[in-house]
Amino acid sequence: MASPFPSVPSLVAEARALYVQVFGEEEAVLTAVCAPGRVNLIGEHTDYNQGFVLPMALPMVTVVVGSQSCGQEVSVVTATKDADQPLQVDFSLPTDGAPLSPGLPSWANYVKGVIQHYRAPPLPGLKAVVCSSVPLGGGLSSSASLEVAFYTFLQQLKPDDGDKVSKALACQQAEHTHAGVPCGIMDQFVSVLGREGHALLIDCRSLEATPVPLADPELLILITNSNVKHSLSASEYPLRRRQCEEAASVLGKDSLRDANMKDLEEAKERLDDVTYRRARHVVEEIERTVQAAGALKRGAYTQFGRLMVQSHNSLRDLYEVSCSELDELVSAAMEVEGVYGSRMTGGGFGGCTVTLLQSHAIDKTILHLQKRYSGTPTFYVATPSEGARALNLS
Ligand code: ADP
Ligand code: MG
Repeated sequence: MASPFPSVPSLVAEARALYVQVFGEEEAVLTAVCAPGRVNLIGEHTDYNQGFVLPMALPMVTVVVGSQSCGQEVSVVTATKDADQPLQVDFSLPTDGAPLSPGLPSWANYVKGVIQHYRAPPLPGLKAVVCSSVPLGGGLSSSASLEVAFYTFLQQLKPDDGDKVSKALACQQAEHTHAGVPCGIMDQFVSVLGREGHALLIDCRSLEATPVPLADPELLILITNSNVKHSLSASEYPLRRRQCEEAASVLGKDSLRDANMKDLEEAKERLDDVTYRRARHVVEEIERTVQAAGALKRGAYTQFGRLMVQSHNSLRDLYEVSCSELDELVSAAMEVEGVYGSRMTGGGFGGCTVTLLQSHAIDKTILHLQKRYSGTPTFYVATPSEGARALNLS
C-alpha cells in the first residue's frame, strides 16, 4: 500500500495546536501558507547547466502558520522531529543592516536565508510554526518547500511585488548562502509555480515554464523512497557542478546548454574521460527532457518511459550519481507489466525513484518492489499539484 500523508488542513491544524502550546493561547494565529515538495520526472543535473527540467509539484507540502509580533524578535518552531535539535530558534532581526549569520541548528539556516533574501525589507518580528508532510532529505525537496513556504509567509506579513520568478530566485539564494548548497533553480521554481494537473517544462536559462498536462486517469506516478541517503551527496554535488563548468569552459561555451554532441566529440581529446562523461550526460539529458515533454503532450507514454530509463542509465554510468539501492528499484519496476518507465529522481546517492505506470498496475508494482528491494521502501502515489499559496484560516 502507498503511504497516506496528512492533508493540508490537518497539517494546518497540527501547526496551530503547536503554536498555541509554544506561544500561548492569547496569541492569535493570523496567517497560514503552504508550499509543495516536488518530483522531477526527467532532466536531472541539467538545471545548473542552464538546461531543461520537467518536474511537478507534489501534494506533500510544508505549512507555515504564524503572526507578526511587536519588536524585532523572530521565533520559529518546527514540528518535524527529523530536523536537528533544538526545534525552536529565537533571534533578533538585525537593525543595522548586518547580515543574519548561518549557524546551528542547521534547519534554521533555510529560514534565516529566506529572511535575508526577502525582497521587501525591512521585516517585522514574527512567530511561526513549520509543519511538513515532505520527507526530509528524501530527494523530494523538503528544503525548497520550506524556503518557499517561509517566503510566502513573509509575503503575508509584508507584501513584496509578487513577482514569482524573483521569489524562486531569492529562495535559491537562501539555500546557497545560508544552507551552503549550490543548488540549481528547479526545486524553488516548481514549488512556487507548480500547477495542478500539470508537469512544468522549465527552461533554466530563460526561466520560462511551459505547463504540460498530466492528468490522464489511466496513468499514475509512483514515488518509491529507498530510505537510504549516502553521505557522498554533500561533496559530490558541488564536484559535479565544477566538472560541468570545466567542460563548458574547454568547449568555449557559457554553459553546457550551448553545447551539442558534435561539439563534445570534437573536444573529446581535450577533455579527460570523467569530464567528458559528465558533459555527455548533461548534453544528452537536456535533449531527452525536451523530447520527453513532447512525448507527454502527445500521450506517447511508452516513449516517455523509454527516455526515463535512458536517463537513469546515464545517471548511473556517465554521471555516476546513482547507487545500488536506486538501481535495484528501477530494475525491479521495469519487470512489471504496465510500467512505462522508472528512474532515480533528485540529486542521487539515495532518495527516491519515480515510476510512470498504467493505473491498473499500481498494486502489483508496489508488491513487486516490496518483494525485490533489499531495503524497506516507502511508496507515495503523487498527483501533480498547485504551487505555493496562502490558506484560509477558518
Ligand atoms: P531534500 O530537499 O531532498 O528533502 P535537503 O538535504 O536538501 O533534502 O534538505 C533537507 C533539510 O531541509 C533538512 O535536513 C532540514 O535542515 C531542512 N528542512 C526541510 N524541511 C524541514 C522542516 N519541515 N522542518 C525543519 N527543517 C526542515
Ligand atoms: Mg533539497
